[in-house]
Amino acid sequence: MLSPPRQAYSSSRGLKIFVVVICFAIIGLEGWRDWTERHQELVRIEGEMTNLAKSLAQHAEDAFNLADVILVDIVDRLEYQGTAPDDMAAMQEFFSARIQTLQALKALTVYGEDGFVLGSSLLGHSRVNVKDFAFFQHHAASPDRKWFFGPIVRDPLGSDWVLTMSRRLNKTDGSFGGVVQVSIPPRYFANFFGRIDLGSQGAVVMFSTADGTILSRYPYFERAVGIRTTTAEWLAGPPSGSRSYTSPIDGVSRLAGYQRNHVYPIVVVSAVSQQEALRNWTLEFRIRLLGVAVLVAIIGLLGWRLARELLRREQVEAELAVLAATDGLTGLANRRTFDRRLETEWLRAAREGTPLSLLLIDVDQFKSYNDLYGHQQGDECLRRVAKVIADGAGRPGDFVARYGGEEIVVLLPDTDEKGAAQVAEEIRAGVEELALRHEANPPSYTLTISIGSVTQWPAAERSHAGPSKLIDWADRALYRAKQDGRNRVSIASAA
Ligand code: GH3
Ligand code: MG
Ligand code: MG
Repeated sequence: MLSPPRQAYSSSRGLKIFVVVICFAIIGLEGWRDWTERHQELVRIEGEMTNLAKSLAQHAEDAFNLADVILVDIVDRLEYQGTAPDDMAAMQEFFSARIQTLQALKALTVYGEDGFVLGSSLLGHSRVNVKDFAFFQHHAASPDRKWFFGPIVRDPLGSDWVLTMSRRLNKTDGSFGGVVQVSIPPRYFANFFGRIDLGSQGAVVMFSTADGTILSRYPYFERAVGIRTTTAEWLAGPPSGSRSYTSPIDGVSRLAGYQRNHVYPIVVVSAVSQQEALRNWTLEFRIRLLGVAVLVAIIGLLGWRLARELLRREQVEAELAVLAATDGLTGLANRRTFDRRLETEWLRAAREGTPLSLLLIDVDQFKSYNDLYGHQQGDECLRRVAKVIADGAGRPGDFVARYGGEEIVVLLPDTDEKGAAQVAEEIRAGVEELALRHEANPPSYTLTISIGSVTQWPAAERSHAGPSKLIDWADRALYRAKQDGRNRVSIASAA
């Protein structure tokens, strides 16, 4: 009738929670660490890309500077010596010689005020006219003597893409006398960019900051040049930096650094594919992931087994505790449990100022019952009596225990003399109603019990006698019940 306390098995549950927390902590910490390392790796790569973009932009600036030095030189000479056809024919060799030594330059061409070719490092283009080209229109309209960096165009002297740089040629009176122009093939930059190892998916792109078109690119392909990029942040904002982007040209996700040039309207972007850049990290991450998975699995498995074993032990312990507190025959609490309970109920009643009643119950003529019907029948009879008593004292707080032999004790907290008598009478009648045959128990010849009842107010001055006195008085009342003829309740008088 006793059951294991509710907090039983708490250690195994605690262990399970602990194991789960440990596993999650390991996963969480490792995940956090991997994420941080990934972030650091990305930052490092972006830094590298930014530095690279810086030096490539510087290289491009050097190439444009060189082109401009030549433009200045040619403009000087022509303004000094004039652009008459004879003079220009004499210059042809000089133009070719200058261009030949410089890989960056494809051609050097002088156009007259009407847009027709006056002279060029390339022969046979005298019928070409550049009146509609932006660089020509710019110089014709503006007296500005500075270099002009034109938008990327199809070469007027061929069909390839070229970058153009040009300067205005003045007549002696300062009026427009023509244009000196050099063309730079985008492939020149592509070849140079290609010398840097950026992995198989890396890319370097040079944009025009004036209109966002691609001026050159490595890997180089014709159809990429001249494309206008729509969302290139690097055209404005800080002059250098880094970001990740997905290429509209080949769809590859890249990490990029960029550098805008402060002299020429260009920005150079160098980029590696994110996947390639994180290859080492990904490899290490997979190895660690495997390690963590194995570790967590081992901890989880061992923890779970331990918890199961702990649970089994706790169950056994709880069962033992119940057994130790219970009487084997009747399932009621045993004497030891009763003694403890009496002590605590006594103190509680004293503290709360409530009455405490006790019933001591003894089966009538039980020795004879055993003699008549056998010991086993006697045991069965005791079980049934115990059940009637347990049912009779059913209020929460009521406590029934086997006191010894065929004696059962009932503790009734917060119950006065009248209440205790009522419970006792109910129990007595209950047993009588069982109508168990008992030939040696006159006058009813059925099984009956006698009950000694006692009520005390432990808080009252006169009762510092203690709980053991309660048993004494109940025993005496029981004795009187036996003497008065059995099958009755006798109440111990307060006196
Ligand atoms: P009384 O009416 O005066 O109580 O007479 P009684 O014969 O019942 O006398 P007493 O209470 O002294 O008898 C106790 C008897 O109860 C002794 C024993 O034969 C019997 N008894 C005690 N414990 C057990 C038990 O566990 N099982 C069985 N079958 N009998 C028990
Ligand atoms: Mg007895
Ligand atoms: Mg008896």
